[in-house]
Amino acid sequence: MNIDFTEEELAFREEVRQFFRNEMPASVRDKVARGCWPDREDHVAYQQALYEKGWAGVNWPVEYGGTGWSAAQRYIFYNEAAAADAPRIIPFGLAMVGPVIYTFGNDEQKARFLPDILASRVWWCQGYSEPNAGSDLAGLKTRAVRDGAHYIVNGSKTWTTLGHYADWIFCLVRTDDSGKKQEGISFLLIDMTSPGVTVKPIITLDGRHEVNEVFFEDVRVPVENLVGEEGKGWTYAKVLLTHERTNIAGVAPSKRRLARLKALLADPPAGVPSLRENAVFMARLVETEIELTSLEYTELRVLSAVATGKAPGPESSILKIKGTEIQQALDELWLEAAGIYAMPFVPEQYQAGFEGESIGPHFAPSMAPLYYNNRKVTIYGGTNEIQKNIIAKQVLGF
Ligand SMILES: Cc1cc2nc3c(=O)[nH]c(=O)nc-3n(C[C@H](O)[C@H](O)[C@H](O)COP(=O)(O)OP(=O)(O)OC[C@H]3O[C@@H](n4cnc5c(N)ncnc54)[C@H](O)[C@@H]3O)c2cc1C
Repeated sequence: MNIDFTEEELAFREEVRQFFRNEMPASVRDKVARGCWPDREDHVAYQQALYEKGWAGVNWPVEYGGTGWSAAQRYIFYNEAAAADAPRIIPFGLAMVGPVIYTFGNDEQKARFLPDILASRVWWCQGYSEPNAGSDLAGLKTRAVRDGAHYIVNGSKTWTTLGHYADWIFCLVRTDDSGKKQEGISFLLIDMTSPGVTVKPIITLDGRHEVNEVFFEDVRVPVENLVGEEGKGWTYAKVLLTHERTNIAGVAPSKRRLARLKALLADPPAGVPSLRENAVFMARLVETEIELTSLEYTELRVLSAVATGKAPGPESSILKIKGTEIQQALDELWLEAAGIYAMPFVPEQYQAGFEGESIGPHFAPSMAPLYYNNRKVTIYGGTNEIQKNIIAKQVLGF
């Protein structure tokens, strides 16, 4: 694999750097740099800046308004975005339901939904998991029963990330339970303002409202909101999940965090001994860096395949496992390196909109909440144990 950038790619990198310097809203960059959580408006402002530049559909085909970028360009973009403290692109519209609609939706659905997704005018959330259907997703019970021109939906979804911001939810629903359980699942788009939809918060370990429960009580959904064929939702969901897992790997943000950690070790905060002389700590740091560099090459291979139009295969499970293990290894290294500054008791400074002085070195005060929050990364998008089952079956042939 040739990893030297061409003249054109270097020029592209400069253009990307200029975009992040000049066109990304500075208030958003500042929040991310301080370790605060961007709010709905911040995400929308950033994604709409990308849209104005024509860069919202990083992975979308050109015919639907996508960038048509090569693997190298995507790699450059993600790395520069992380280096510039850009927030993550919220995946539910642009990376999840958008690709499902342009791949499996009909022309009316493409015309109706894709422009708003691309322009981040509508916020989507993902309604897959249920109280008794997580790893065993095909066991889901939320039911959609056909009634003339509508489906009547009853049931509940859980762990719905940022569902309290969402205008629409894409759901896996059961339309048939006579045969194999995978065959009775359909992919339905539901307007969150429909009568009978209720969203309730779940507050996580870090004290944050990020996830929700969503309840459906006799919700009437027009049949034209069914994507593809009834009973084929499982097939569409699987394509979407491979994209989701590739995104979860988070190689570029991890590189950024590692670089910052090294800077912190070189210039430790007052009262915190530098761990640079601690051989055990440094061995763990170096091991993490080696793992991360190896994963970067795996990601490049997957990006190359995706750029040629292929959906990522079981490699996305490898990316998910290693990428999330590395994120958690970095959390632990950061906690130790930041010492007492990892958890100063100023909870409001983690909230969006906090304008006061941050305590401790740049980025360090968010480490303890981030450590707790990141317990999720080995769980969501399909747990790492389930990813190992996928690799055993699809790669090793067990
Ligand atoms: C912060 C967060 C955000 C999320 N956001 C969303 C969202 O926006 N939308 C959405 O639909 N879902 C979301 N999820 C749900 C997520 O996909 C599920 O939590 C996940 O699939 C695991 O399901 P479960 O929680 O029911 O755990 P379970 O399936 O009950 O698993 C419990 C444990 O058993 C293990 N296990 C289960 N089956 C097997 C097996 N066959 N082999 C080996 N080990 C097994 C699991 O690995 C796990 O350790 C989110 C979850 C979290 C934590």
